[in-house]
Amino acid sequence: MAGLRADCAGPVLTPEDPSYDEVRRVWNAMHLREPAVIVRCTRTADVRAALRFAAAAGLPVTVRGGGHNVAGTAVADGAVLIDLSLMRQVVVEPGERVAHAQGGVLLRDVDAATTPHGLACPAGVVSHTGLAGLALGGGYGWLARKWGLTCDHVLAAEVVLADGSVVETAQHPDLLWALRGGGGNFGVVTRFTLRLREAGPVHHRAGLYPFDDAVAALDQYARFAEAQGPDQHAVGCLKIASDEDWIPVGLRRTPVLALTSVWLGEPADGPAANAALFEPLRPAVSRERVLSYAQLQALGDHSEPHGHRYYTKSCYLGDLPSAGLAAACADIRSPWSAIDFEYLRGAILDLPDAESAFPGRDAPYICTVSAHWLDPAQDAENIAWARASIAGVAEPGRGGAYVNYLQDEPDGKVLDVYGDVRYAKLAEVKARYDPANVFRANQNIRPHSQ
Ligand code: FAD
Repeated sequence: MAGLRADCAGPVLTPEDPSYDEVRRVWNAMHLREPAVIVRCTRTADVRAALRFAAAAGLPVTVRGGGHNVAGTAVADGAVLIDLSLMRQVVVEPGERVAHAQGGVLLRDVDAATTPHGLACPAGVVSHTGLAGLALGGGYGWLARKWGLTCDHVLAAEVVLADGSVVETAQHPDLLWALRGGGGNFGVVTRFTLRLREAGPVHHRAGLYPFDDAVAALDQYARFAEAQGPDQHAVGCLKIASDEDWIPVGLRRTPVLALTSVWLGEPADGPAANAALFEPLRPAVSRERVLSYAQLQALGDHSEPHGHRYYTKSCYLGDLPSAGLAAACADIRSPWSAIDFEYLRGAILDLPDAESAFPGRDAPYICTVSAHWLDPAQDAENIAWARASIAGVAEPGRGGAYVNYLQDEPDGKVLDVYGDVRYAKLAEVKARYDPANVFRANQNIRPHSQ
């Protein structure tokens, strides 16, 4: 431990340290683990020191970017936690439309650095999510239909491999391919180089339908979403309405369907473009406004705070199963739980399938059932609700899933996600860069030889 502390510029914590209890926590309170050591890395050399220490001590390692993975893979009992949450620097080259982001940045760190230049890297919809885990697994968000996934925007990376060596993906194209969708299996990414896109103000309209109208409005959503152009991104959510001021008193705390459409073109064209989602069946209430890109990115922040209990199940769908979705909402167990869905495609299909490890580019819809509650005594009923709900909407025979939403899956799910051919290629890359499977606290790709 003395050697590790001497080698690291950042703090090294053990359970006796006063800050250990706070630092070991991740977003999902279901995963309160007790790492043996937490290395709060502040530079690439600290990551190397942590890996050396773990190997010498015979301890497993976990890697934390933003700590948001619902399955809690960033922390494990008795492991060395390589914590990147102090590595949050972002450097923008506006002329090149490129940003260099350290491995622990949150989405809001990237936005804060890029939006003053009218630029953004397409990413997720909650700004306290980590870029690393999100980008390594794919990265859906408001700009995905217009520009593609976050992983499609990873141009290069600095990676610390399991043996402690530091490589640049420019010399390792197979590694870059694997990092674009293959998750945290191949090494610790200490720096991403990201392609940026133009991003300005957007027109945003949200409407709420009473539960009795949900099935008809879901069908209306599907018709609209499947016809929308790349400048538009419409999403939906079945949930219990909150008691925010703009919601009519009669709808508050009742099951509702929320539909949202974001227009990414000229804001002046937004009102007409977004109105079409809400016709002919009109919502009970709706509101529209022009938001800056940073405001759009922060809209989801308050609804999924740190420290609550979460359990997520997700699947891809070919069609929107309106009746099944409504039935799942009718049975919801917690006022914070939600069933989210969105039509994908658009620019997600632009990158040729062979150019990244990301599977499932052609999936039409993604549906995510998110159970969200506070009391551990309610774990079983909320988990049961999420499992039953996804079973009620999943299409028999449609395999695959979004790797970043996997939790509590049967053996073979990771193979199902990637498919035989892609998994075999990933396993070869894994054998080249991490033959002993040091990075196994993730949705694990086993090295080819194992
Ligand atoms: P962490 O929990 O820190 O890490 C998860 C795993 O990623 C680790 O176990 C490790 O294997 C790997 N990892 C993390 N950092 C590194 C690194 N620097 N180098 C190598 N491996 C690393 N996904 C979307 O696509 N779109 C969304 O809009 C979206 N919204 C979300 C909203 C919320 C509230 C939450 C909780 C999740 C959301 N997600 C979304 C899912 C998200 O992509 C995953 O949870 C992702 O794992 C989060 O990344 P992280 O760095 O915060 O995760």
